[in-house]
Amino acid sequence: MSLGSFTSSDSKRRATPLPRPIENMQTFTPDSSIASDVIPSANFGERNKGRLPDMILLHYTGMPDVQGAIAQLCTAGTDVSAHYIVLEDGRIVQCVPEAKRAWHAGVASWAGEDDINSCSIGVEIVNRGHDWGYPEFPLRQIAAVIALCRGIMLRRNVPSQRVLAHSDVAPSRKKDPGEKFPWHSLANSGVGHWVQPAPLVRSEGLRLGATSNEVRGLQQALARYGYGLSITGKYDTTTTEVVTAFQRHFRPAKVDGVADHSTLVTLQALLASLPAETAATAAT
Ligand SMILES: [Zn+2]
Repeated sequence: MSLGSFTSSDSKRRATPLPRPIENMQTFTPDSSIASDVIPSANFGERNKGRLPDMILLHYTGMPDVQGAIAQLCTAGTDVSAHYIVLEDGRIVQCVPEAKRAWHAGVASWAGEDDINSCSIGVEIVNRGHDWGYPEFPLRQIAAVIALCRGIMLRRNVPSQRVLAHSDVAPSRKKDPGEKFPWHSLANSGVGHWVQPAPLVRSEGLRLGATSNEVRGLQQALARYGYGLSITGKYDTTTTEVVTAFQRHFRPAKVDGVADHSTLVTLQALLASLPAETAATAAT
């Protein structure tokens, strides 16, 4: 969908026009007090066994324009949706009531659960993504994401360590919201679990093809944090993908899938700073 005849200076002055809600779609009152618009999506269902959401999953839209992204997330038949869309100018659109199960995660797993749509609230952040130049996230958009997430965390009792990237729960398929997403800014405002990454130093690191007890220990640590991978002692493709996802989120200075010293130290620091009861559960 085209942005019409707006020039770039026009678009700075005027808010991006939102598509009109699809006719005959039932509207609803937004769950978040800072959602300014409701564009109901046709794509949602019931949460499995009445599961209450206790995770927030952050995405980028990965499409060239916002109208196309909203159309994709709301039109019947696309089979995708999200609870919220956060625009670049900070406006927040709600598309699916939080009580319902939106379709944003796809095949995914975290901490032994694989119906991620049933346990999560999906937030799509408008950004063209890696395939379309991957711009920086504007500050006002991040401020809106923080405010939205803080509200959801309070209302839904979402623990910090369950504010996650799509890439964390689907490392073999997804990159979003990617290494430019400022997780440290969110953490500074009480959103998400994060530690200062250990500095990059020259080190060999574990990598694809390695087989050792160190690899096994790495896999155990990643699984204990929540990542879905098998403990085999072999640094296989899945391990590379999970380490890459870990780096995008927690050590974005170098995203290469090699478990170097900085990656290992950052992972240990994250595990050490998990709330005690979570670490105990994860260890069982
Ligand atoms: Zn996504």
